[in-house]
Amino acid sequence: MTRDDKKNKSNKQKNYRFDTRAVRAGQIRTSEDEQSEPIFPTVSFVAESAAQAAARFSGAEPGNIYSRFTNPTVRTFEQRLASLEGGERCVATGSGMSAILTTCMGLLKSGDHIVASRSIFGPTVILFNTILARFGIETTFVPLTDLAAWEQALRPNTRLLFLETPSNPLTEVADIAALAKIAHKNGSLLVVDNCFCTPALQLPLALGADIVVHSASKYIDGQGRAVGGAIVGSEKLVGGDIYAFLRTAGPSMSPFNAWIYLKGLETLRLRMDAHSRSALQLAEWLEQQPAVKRVHYPALPSHPQHALAMKQQAAGGGVLSFELAGGKTAAWKLIDATQIISITATFGDTKSTITHPATTTHWRLTPEARAAAGISDGLVRIGVGLEDVEDLKDDLKAGLSV
Ligand SMILES: *Cc1c(COP(=O)(O)O)cnc(C)c1O
Repeated sequence: MTRDDKKNKSNKQKNYRFDTRAVRAGQIRTSEDEQSEPIFPTVSFVAESAAQAAARFSGAEPGNIYSRFTNPTVRTFEQRLASLEGGERCVATGSGMSAILTTCMGLLKSGDHIVASRSIFGPTVILFNTILARFGIETTFVPLTDLAAWEQALRPNTRLLFLETPSNPLTEVADIAALAKIAHKNGSLLVVDNCFCTPALQLPLALGADIVVHSASKYIDGQGRAVGGAIVGSEKLVGGDIYAFLRTAGPSMSPFNAWIYLKGLETLRLRMDAHSRSALQLAEWLEQQPAVKRVHYPALPSHPQHALAMKQQAAGGGVLSFELAGGKTAAWKLIDATQIISITATFGDTKSTITHPATTTHWRLTPEARAAAGISDGLVRIGVGLEDVEDLKDDLKAGLSV
């Protein structure tokens, strides 16, 4: 073993367990012998000779060229996340939305068809319906948990099935393994947006999905600091046409943000366990409040897909929603009475967040469409942070009094 091999011995992923890979995977120490991963804020990289530059550009010799598509800090993040998701290859992007766009631009062409869950992130619906539609790509939306509807929506030109599970804000749970079978029987690919669970709680690739997309802006950062995204899957798909699109079109991640995320991955499981523990305690407590009609949280036995969720996920995750009997007036009163919880539409932060979906994330929908999606005027969503859960209960108590 050379000294360099020894310095980097623990990043050779072998069969290390999740927590070890979260801390070690992807790290390549430089000649400075640093313990923590460095940031490489450089646009380009230099070659030793014209011949070496030529070999790097042609791909004959591996090496860094230009940070739009080769940056060591970004690569460390990509390798670490690929390792945690159980994928061969990861491509990091500038946002979660650009991860979805890059996946579509890499894999689709005019005339292709997408079948998507109707319970996906609002901007993803607009991307599919408005932007991809302009390029001749059509999308059919189906109810997330209705397997027959997915099957019926398939066409010979269906290239992608796209879903989030659990869904936002109602935390409905899709059967990933069943949908992977349905997709593959049709020669289609299953793409799962794994934002809500992260690989700490759910591994879609192991269940048969072909591609995982992430908004790293949520739990992967975990502290609400930077917008970013990632795509994970096979070398053939992600290292092929998807990487080729990123390399040329450039929706790339900055090395600064990659550093935030690769350090975030080191504590991901600890944080997801803590978010999930607090969310379950809060969900159980909310179920007992007279002002609350119904709580949506996968780890509650009252959840309609509780058994599936507990088979597919290691825990319930950090997001829950609930319906207040008093409608919008009660929802706004509760939100305005909070002193700790932040009024903001994001989640996946150490700081808890509270949102009224009907008038924020889902305000564009017509009242009929909102009703069909199950977004009632009394619905409130909480992204449960890492504060003491007793303080969170106290924070909600005042606004819940009827
Ligand atoms: C936030 C989010 C996105 C988009 O990510 P950005 O980083 O904000 O672009 C996509 N999917 C889900 C489920 C999200 O919550």
